[in-house]
Amino acid sequence: MMEATQAAQMAGQIVERVRRDRIWERLQELAQFGALSDGGVNRQALTTADMNARAQMVRWAHGLNLQVFTDAIANLFIRLEGEHADWPPILIGSHLDTQPNGGRFDGAYGVIAGLEVLNAIRDSEQRPLRSIEVVAWTNEEASRFAPGMMGSQAFTGRWALPEILAIRDASGVSVEHAVAQVLAADMGIPHRPLKRPVAACIEPHIEQGPLLEEAAMPVGIVTGIQGTLRYRVRVIGAAGHAGTVPRTARRDALMATIAMIQAVDALCEREQDSLYTTGMLEIMPNAPSVIPAETYFSIDVRQRDNTVLDRLRRAIPETLAAHAGRCAIDVREIVHAESIEFSESIREHLAGSADVLGIPSMPIFSSAGHDARHLNYLCPTGMLFVPCRAGISHSPDESANPEDLEAGTKVLAHAVWRLASH
Ligand SMILES: [Zn+2]
Repeated sequence: MMEATQAAQMAGQIVERVRRDRIWERLQELAQFGALSDGGVNRQALTTADMNARAQMVRWAHGLNLQVFTDAIANLFIRLEGEHADWPPILIGSHLDTQPNGGRFDGAYGVIAGLEVLNAIRDSEQRPLRSIEVVAWTNEEASRFAPGMMGSQAFTGRWALPEILAIRDASGVSVEHAVAQVLAADMGIPHRPLKRPVAACIEPHIEQGPLLEEAAMPVGIVTGIQGTLRYRVRVIGAAGHAGTVPRTARRDALMATIAMIQAVDALCEREQDSLYTTGMLEIMPNAPSVIPAETYFSIDVRQRDNTVLDRLRRAIPETLAAHAGRCAIDVREIVHAESIEFSESIREHLAGSADVLGIPSMPIFSSAGHDARHLNYLCPTGMLFVPCRAGISHSPDESANPEDLEAGTKVLAHAVWRLASH
């Protein structure tokens, strides 16, 4: 076992080789894949743009003489082999896919920060005892294929691979087909099994909220992620003439939908101000003088307290049924993710690295979901946030300071080297 003091000394040498300009330039280069004219990025999972970003990651990896691997769900791994190749690795990374109108930092920062750590280690000509792997998880965002976080859930075994592969996008293309295309374009990158043992995992990410910027803190040590419930509801009524069908004879799907949305919102407000959103609503046939025959809408609920989340999970389907009136409803739960707390030892470890480097940090709770949620069930896991401008994300206006991105990467490099030293 390497002496702790010696490991800390070497960690300092690696941190010195973290380069702000390289992080920034790689982020801009990656943003070319799926670039939109307004400065945003549309790089949805398993599309050509996503494949091109992946190919760029592979070129950078090969340029540093690092190993590249993939798996049955097309997660991408870049590995710097340690002296003990058989020890489970330290995993760092995030995702390369974006929302249709996304930005340059969400997901990409975590992958580029990870690559920078490996680059800095290469530049220092040191070799860790334990291998370090950078990962880009497949389909975190759920914009093309829903639900998201497919790569991390397949890897940890939280979700069965055949079920994931059967999911289709809006045009009928299956995950299985899209993954096969990506793997075919890889040109011989070796495959490794899912559910490999991992020693620890750290996901760096932009905050996607305003707290770090308001506190002028370059780094947040994430304490946990709040729970999420998501549903898709189909409401089936009957079409009819807007001017001739009397009120008593109507089965208006939209009126029933409005009643259901208001009732569930009121329920969520009563339950400790749980956040409720219906962000998607389709109306059929969507004609001005026809009574809506059918609607399809989403429900998204966020809550930190798992007891409250469980109560809501029981009450939401009942509330929907009680307010459907004369319409029939089909309620599908698509996400039930409990509120989680990250490993205390990883949190202390990250905070310790920030302290040693003189980089201010503060604990912060994540209101958004991340792949690290699923890794947390497999191995000691943590997250590190950096500020983003005005808390904006999932938008072309998403931005971050190069200085903060560098500070986050330095804390990551210091923490990861020490984790890889025993
Ligand atoms: Zn993300």
